[in-house]
Amino acid sequence: MTGNRPRFPLPLSSLASKSHRSGDISRTPLVSVATPQTATQNVVQHRHPVQSHAGMPMVSDAVRRAMVARLARQGVNDTVVLSAMGIVPRHQFVEPGLINQAYIDASLPIGYQQTISQPFIVARMIELMRGARTLNNVLEIGTGCGYQAAVLANLCQHVYSIERIKPLHELAKNNLRALRIANLRLHYGDGMLGLPQVAPFDGIILAAAGKQIPTALLQQMAIGGRLIAPVGDQQQALQLIERTGTTEWVKSVLEECHFVPLCSGII
Ligand code: SAH
Repeated sequence: MTGNRPRFPLPLSSLASKSHRSGDISRTPLVSVATPQTATQNVVQHRHPVQSHAGMPMVSDAVRRAMVARLARQGVNDTVVLSAMGIVPRHQFVEPGLINQAYIDASLPIGYQQTISQPFIVARMIELMRGARTLNNVLEIGTGCGYQAAVLANLCQHVYSIERIKPLHELAKNNLRALRIANLRLHYGDGMLGLPQVAPFDGIILAAAGKQIPTALLQQMAIGGRLIAPVGDQQQALQLIERTGTTEWVKSVLEECHFVPLCSGII
C-alpha cells in the first residue's frame, strides 16, 4: 500500500507548513469512516444487530476474537497490536443502545459530534506508530470514550491521553475506571499543545485531523520516535512522521482516511 511513499529529511519549518499534495497519496481504498455523519449511518445500517455466526452474544470473547481475526485478514500483521485489540472490551466503551454493534468494523457516535474510531483504523494506526518497537512513553490526542487509550495501555509502558471536551474526558474516566489500568493518565486540555512535562514521547497518535501537524507535537517526539496522524480537511490522509535528528523529521504520506476535526482550545 505504500507504493508512492516520499521519504526525505525535512526541517521542522517545512514539515509543519507543508501543504498536502495529492500526488503524495498512494491510492488505496478508503479505510476509515469516522465522521459523526457516517457513524450515524453505521448505526442505522446495523440497526438490526448482526448475529454472530456461532449464535454467541454480541459481547462475548468469541466475538472479540472474530474481530481480531478480521483485522488480521484486513492486513494488520503486528501480533502485539492484535493481541491488545483482543484484550480490550470495546463494548464497554459504546453507548448502551449500541452494544450489539460494538465489534462491527465501523465508527459509532459517542455524543458531542464525536465518534469511537473503527477498529481497523485503531489497529492500523497503532501498528504504524509502533513500527515493531517496544514503546515506553506514548501520547494520544483525542481520548474520546477512551477505547484506543486502553488498547495503547496494553502495549506501552506509559500512556498519556488528552481530550478537549470535558464531558468526554469524564466519560472516558468512567469507562476506564472498571478496567483499572495503572499505566494510563487522562488529561483534560488542548492536545495541540502536547504534554511537555512528560515529553519526549517515542510514539504520538492523533485521533482527529488537523490541516497540519502541530509543531509542539513534533518538538515533543523523541529522536527515533514516530507520530501517526490524519492530516487534511475535506480530503485527508494518514501521515507517519519519524524524527531522525534534533532538527530532522521524515514524512510518509499513506492512505486516505476520514476523521473528525482537530480543534484548538477546550470546551
Ligand atoms: N480515541 C478515540 C477516538 C476519539 S474521536 C477512540 O478511542 O475511538 C476524536 C477525539 O478528538 C474527540 O473526542 C475530540 O473531542 C478530540 N479532539 C479534537 N481536537 C482535540 C484537541 N485539540 N485536543 C484534544 N482532543 C481533541
